[in-house]
Amino acid sequence: MSNIFLTNTLTRKKEKFEPLKPPNVGIYSCGPTVYFNSHIGHMRRYVGDDILKRLLIASGYQVKHVMNITDVGHLTSDADSGEDKIEKSAKETGRSAWDIAKFYESQFFSSTDSLNIIRPDTVARATDHIKEQIALISQIEKNGYVYKTEDGIYFDTSKLESYGALAGGKEGIKAGARVDVAGKKNPTDFALWKFSPSKEKRQMEWESPWGVGFPGWHIECSAMSMKYLGETFDIHTGGVDHIPIHHTNEIAQSEGATGKAPVKFWIHHEFLMVNGQKMAKSLKNTYTLDDVIKKDFDPISLRYLFLTAHYRDTLNFTWESLTSAQNALTKLRSQLLALKESRQRTILSKEKEGKMEEVRQAFIQAVSDDLNTPRGVAIMWDMLKSNIPAEDKYDLALSFDEILGLSLNKVSTTKLAIPEDLKKLIDERNKLRVEGKFEDADKIRIKIEEKGFYLMDSKGGTLVKKT
Ligand code: AMP
Ligand code: ZN
Repeated sequence: MSNIFLTNTLTRKKEKFEPLKPPNVGIYSCGPTVYFNSHIGHMRRYVGDDILKRLLIASGYQVKHVMNITDVGHLTSDADSGEDKIEKSAKETGRSAWDIAKFYESQFFSSTDSLNIIRPDTVARATDHIKEQIALISQIEKNGYVYKTEDGIYFDTSKLESYGALAGGKEGIKAGARVDVAGKKNPTDFALWKFSPSKEKRQMEWESPWGVGFPGWHIECSAMSMKYLGETFDIHTGGVDHIPIHHTNEIAQSEGATGKAPVKFWIHHEFLMVNGQKMAKSLKNTYTLDDVIKKDFDPISLRYLFLTAHYRDTLNFTWESLTSAQNALTKLRSQLLALKESRQRTILSKEKEGKMEEVRQAFIQAVSDDLNTPRGVAIMWDMLKSNIPAEDKYDLALSFDEILGLSLNKVSTTKLAIPEDLKKLIDERNKLRVEGKFEDADKIRIKIEEKGFYLMDSKGGTLVKKT
């Protein structure tokens, strides 16, 4: 097993990863709030988790991966104000809250499947774990951390000495400064249980020792991670937006209940951006995986694009960058195909054997160094250019791909995916040629070549190839 180093948000340092009970590793990932289509920003986050999980599996660990589905309790403001996102979506669309949640959960997994993201071992829905959440709140209450307001049961953050450590203490939490809710003792206090509004019947509500209502957003993750992974487990992942509120509060809840730190390693992924802003539904700058597919991109080219940036750096999404990623992926696949077809067992010289091992080690070290996938991808290309024999290049590429997850084991002679705009240009050019306007047709040929394709005219028609 090679050493794996990960940046732990809790210590702000790159640390050697050591599981609590080797070879087992427990990972909990905060999952989506299923009230609307997941977008490719979400997908970046889960591709990042997938790389981590694949690396651990390839390194010989027995990984147990749990992901929650937030199907209740996430309000329109990350503070405890506003409407429940799922109830709001139900009201707006006239569908039931349960249908909404089911529908978008399945949309989420269909997108992650297309990106070759391994599904979690356990998918835990908040609404299936109300009993566990109530039990945990009761435990926190017994330990003296809660108080009641008109609208719910709140966690008193002033009672927990270590509150806010994940966000870098009091300064860090300011970044997520909350809107005040009437009756809160401290601005950072948060709801564990919210009462159903008196004038309105919610679709999702439950009896509790405190009154009819629904769980606050954070309690589900404490309750379900504890249920499936124990009071202290190895790795918890999320987006950077989770640091000041959701994860800070999750730690408070778990510590309030058990007196123990719940997680050894906190991993946080940076955002996918559009024109310098976070890709987010509220900013109306999102694209779904379906949008990507409709533009004739292979979903795996999106995965390739994500791998070209480090998970702790933001990545600005453009269609041009996705086109480059698709071109690179097509080239990679065609090289793999050529290697697959020209394979024949050769006896390696000592020098080549040494070279192969060197390359293998370089790759493992890169991805084990805080998941440096850009470096890993670069090593893959260098390896393909090297003088290692075809058979071994092919095997190495497939072993790298156990972590990169680009489905390189599935390469076969596939038809070239021709983007819609290119199809239009080809039709236009053909029309001009039929009309005898060869100069104009040539201008279009140049445009096509600028897009990275070339045309071969034959009696049977026009063949399109990649340059
Ligand atoms: P949500 O469904 O809004 O709770 O988000 C699910 C996960 O996706 C969270 O971990 C977010 O941090 C993450 N996420 C949301 N938007 C983006 C984005 N633009 N880039 C990367 N991750 C994101
Ligand atoms: Zn969570």
